[in-house]
Amino acid sequence: MISRAQVPIENKQTTRNRIYQLVYQKGRISKPEIASQLGISLPTAIQNVKNLRADGLLKEGEVLDSTGGRKAVSVVCEKNAKFAIGTDITRNHVSIVLINLATEIIESTRFEIPYENTQAYYQEVVNCIGELVAVSGIKTEHILGAGFSVPGVLTRDGQMIIYSHVLQVSALPCSTISRGLGFPSVLCNDANAAGFAEMWKHKYRTDAVFLSLSDTVGGAILLHNELYLGENQRGGEFGHMTLVQDGLPCYCGQKGCMDAYCSALVLSRHTGGSLELFFKKLAEGDKAILAVWEQYLSFLTMAVNNLLVSFDCSLILGGYLGEYLEGYIDDLRKSTMKISTFTGNEDYITACSYRKEAAAVGAALFFVRPFIKQL
Ligand SMILES: [Zn+2]
Repeated sequence: MISRAQVPIENKQTTRNRIYQLVYQKGRISKPEIASQLGISLPTAIQNVKNLRADGLLKEGEVLDSTGGRKAVSVVCEKNAKFAIGTDITRNHVSIVLINLATEIIESTRFEIPYENTQAYYQEVVNCIGELVAVSGIKTEHILGAGFSVPGVLTRDGQMIIYSHVLQVSALPCSTISRGLGFPSVLCNDANAAGFAEMWKHKYRTDAVFLSLSDTVGGAILLHNELYLGENQRGGEFGHMTLVQDGLPCYCGQKGCMDAYCSALVLSRHTGGSLELFFKKLAEGDKAILAVWEQYLSFLTMAVNNLLVSFDCSLILGGYLGEYLEGYIDDLRKSTMKISTFTGNEDYITACSYRKEAAAVGAALFFVRPFIKQL
């Protein structure tokens, strides 16, 4: 028999982490239920919960309904034990969010600022992050780090932008963007970040494909709760699937890419750059706008069908278009059904849950997730 002193530390950490993750997933749970679900003894569950409470990571929740006998007090996560920052950098905007461990947005800001590869621009972004933290009143030692979502291909460690067509930069280190910030920082691809945030909202899903329909088209592949990045971190670049042989020119230099037919610009260029106005006119039945939409939908249907045939799992549509799509998802399902080889594939299509902040929240999750997995 192993005495208490001989129990390897690794085992202790594993049990502690398994308990924390279970409470995080369930939202609230009793100690007997923790013991039962993890196959550990009740004293072990009680001791670990006690330690996690002492560390400020768990706390007592409400009394759970009981079917008889003593009522059990639930255990819940201390969602404000730690926080993380997410910043989404686009060509014309910056969005910043400060989230807690439950991914609740505590503070956020979004402002127009054209991207420039200058120290003045990065300093402005870093100053805004600092102001957001100051407004929140959260102590800096409680902030895990800051994730930066960018449209581009990155090194696997998230410490450099290899290149970005949208931002027109290459070999840009994360440390240049986050200079003077005072937190650990990491870069993540914008579509991967947004897709990751959507997946996090739907914990029951383990596989999904995210299609980002913004001024450029991107995507993310999430398999077994992990991002699939590909050999060169270029997985999920759905915008450059060929839809039309020798078709319209794409910004990548090729012709006929999905991006040229399905980016948000394809719609907003008909309403002076305003997607909001496009969907307003569409809702009002504007004939010219309706014709543009129907053509757009026909190309989107093709792309969506190709993705569903390839992945056979949930397909979440987001990006700039995401906030307008809810009312048109049924149209897309119907048009997909018409060209789909497999019955029921159209049911996989859903609109995103987040409106504007998905990529910023996803960037912050790049710090929340490792914390939850490794504490
Ligand atoms: Zn292309």
